[in-house]
Amino acid sequence: MLGSAPVVPAPQVPRGAARAAIRRPGTLADDAPRYFDVLEPLLPTVRKPAQYVGGEHNQVVSDWGAAATRWLLCYPDTYEVGQPNQGIQILYEVLNERSTALAERAYAPWVDLEEHMRALAIPTFSLETHRPLWAFDVFGVTLPHELGHTNLLNLLDLGDVPIHAAERTLEDPVVVVGGHAAFNPEPLAPFIDVAVMGDGEQVTIDIDDVVRAFKDDREQGQQLTRHDLLRRLADVEGCYVPAFYEARYHEDGRLKQTVPIVSGVPSLVPKRTIQDLEEWQYPRKQIVPMTETVHERFSVEIFRGCTRGCRFCQAGMITRPVRERRPETVQKIVEEGVKDTGFNEVGLLSLSSADHSAIGSIARDLADEYEGTVTSLSLPSTRVDAFNVTLSNELARNGRRTGLTFAPEAGSERMRAVINKMVSEQDMLRTAEVAFSEGWRHIKMYFMVGLPTEQDEDVLAIADMGIRVYEIARKHGRANKVTISVGGFVPKPHTPFQWARQDSPEDIKRKLSLIRHAIKDHGGLKLRTNDPEEGVIEGLLARGDRRVAPAVERAWRLGARFDGWHEMPTLQTWTQAMEDTGVELDWFSYRERGENEALPWDHLDSGLEKSWLWEDWQDAQSDQQLDDCRWSECYDCGVCPGLSIQHDTGYDGGFALPILPSGLGGCGDLPTAPERYASGG
Ligand code: SF4
Repeated sequence: MLGSAPVVPAPQVPRGAARAAIRRPGTLADDAPRYFDVLEPLLPTVRKPAQYVGGEHNQVVSDWGAAATRWLLCYPDTYEVGQPNQGIQILYEVLNERSTALAERAYAPWVDLEEHMRALAIPTFSLETHRPLWAFDVFGVTLPHELGHTNLLNLLDLGDVPIHAAERTLEDPVVVVGGHAAFNPEPLAPFIDVAVMGDGEQVTIDIDDVVRAFKDDREQGQQLTRHDLLRRLADVEGCYVPAFYEARYHEDGRLKQTVPIVSGVPSLVPKRTIQDLEEWQYPRKQIVPMTETVHERFSVEIFRGCTRGCRFCQAGMITRPVRERRPETVQKIVEEGVKDTGFNEVGLLSLSSADHSAIGSIARDLADEYEGTVTSLSLPSTRVDAFNVTLSNELARNGRRTGLTFAPEAGSERMRAVINKMVSEQDMLRTAEVAFSEGWRHIKMYFMVGLPTEQDEDVLAIADMGIRVYEIARKHGRANKVTISVGGFVPKPHTPFQWARQDSPEDIKRKLSLIRHAIKDHGGLKLRTNDPEEGVIEGLLARGDRRVAPAVERAWRLGARFDGWHEMPTLQTWTQAMEDTGVELDWFSYRERGENEALPWDHLDSGLEKSWLWEDWQDAQSDQQLDDCRWSECYDCGVCPGLSIQHDTGYDGGFALPILPSGLGGCGDLPTAPERYASGG
């Protein structure tokens, strides 16, 4: 249904030699078709049309003909969710600063535009020049979570690129994925060419060099194949080419191992780690969105990594060690960025921003700088302690003291020991007391249910903590508010909980109803919950192996898109897809794994020793906690040896925060909706 949109015929899609010619360096800009003229008449008929237009402040339009390599960087969700993503903006700048490369961006079209695109043969297009995906050399896709997998297939298919890597030729772009979900890319193995492990900055340059040299060699007349290109990419540290590995299974269905089948590729693919954030001061020129997005602010990453050791937190585990940005660099980036972009909010980003060793001086200096202006400051993640309230007071000098968010994650002391979230109930109550007495009006607390070893009494302790904080709130003012936000836990690879069974949606629903019932007499205490079914697909894709790939394809063919969006009938579609392909949740999600079982990501090295993760899993089950290794002893997790870096523990003039007891929020913030991932680096 095209509504009343006037139809402009789409340019013909060139094939064979004509397409190959377009992808060679030195191509005239007009040779690669552009689709804006076809798209423009359709825009009044679709939701949020400005997301497809491009032209934002700080977008870069490079000379197509002059670029030796052309990248299309993609966040596989809508513009409003993907645009603020720091990872894409960093790589966009890194690539566009290279004199030989060009990078443009793409996001997933919402279903209304997809309908038009399919009817009129409009391919997946770039925002900058509306050129088609197939005309680029590299399709670089960030996967901050698993719920964009079907969108990735859809973008490839719409972009006239075969969804199966084995069917692609040298006329097709190389499909490279990165981001946290790339640490287990096995459910996507047949669809991707390369998965990149770890920090993206340097490895992107390395990939770009390989692609450029490969194109040069072809121009020089060398007879090369796509296999040759992938073989060269497999030599880049941090690059995993799934086609060069084979998964072998025991008769009972357990994985035996995933082994190289091409000589010379590594049996254990290491992750890349940027050693000094000071050398990578990106993004400098943040793109100002054209339309509403989930985060409209100037963001600066103040440090990378986390060593708090929360056992559920994949981000914290795979980004070790901690690397801080110098306070004066943060200040400079913010000053220049605010001036350049005109944003009136600044977000200090990291997995646990209050843990920067100089956060006090960073906050004070920025607050001094912007006092009396319209620029406000925010810490997206917050620790459960009074220091955090002081910090928030400082940051809120320009604004009203409205809401503070904390993430105790679990309700009972025992459960917090299991997940290694070092915060006591006293911490939370004291923090609430300080916050409300200093004029804050609303506290929101994040929790999870479905955690390993959880009993009903642990679940009810969430309600209990909510009620106690609510009593403090009411003591300080009848209008004060408290919200408890509860989601279902999804075990992730490369964490101590990677062996755990996941709760079914029915288990989660029952636990949520226990909380709902327990707080029913406290009308002002708000409970916010996720749809328990949301975690089903995320869990399957997080820990699935290559046998899950047919279900991904089947789900996409049945219409699955935007799997993290409430609007989409995701679970029905996926249930059908799993039935059709024989994929069982009981096997992939609802059973505990044993110590000796091979895991689908064992050949991908996050730096963490599997034996250390297993020990930590045992500690979890006996309620043993570990301090933050940044401030105490090293537990030999495996990450630091081999890197010529150590954790940053404080700059001159900075100060170290107390170690214990100081719960923190942030790294495990409740997954609620697609926007929860949008600011990830
Ligand atoms: S090797 Fe030691 S210091 Fe480094 S992250 Fe692991 S436990 Fe911490």
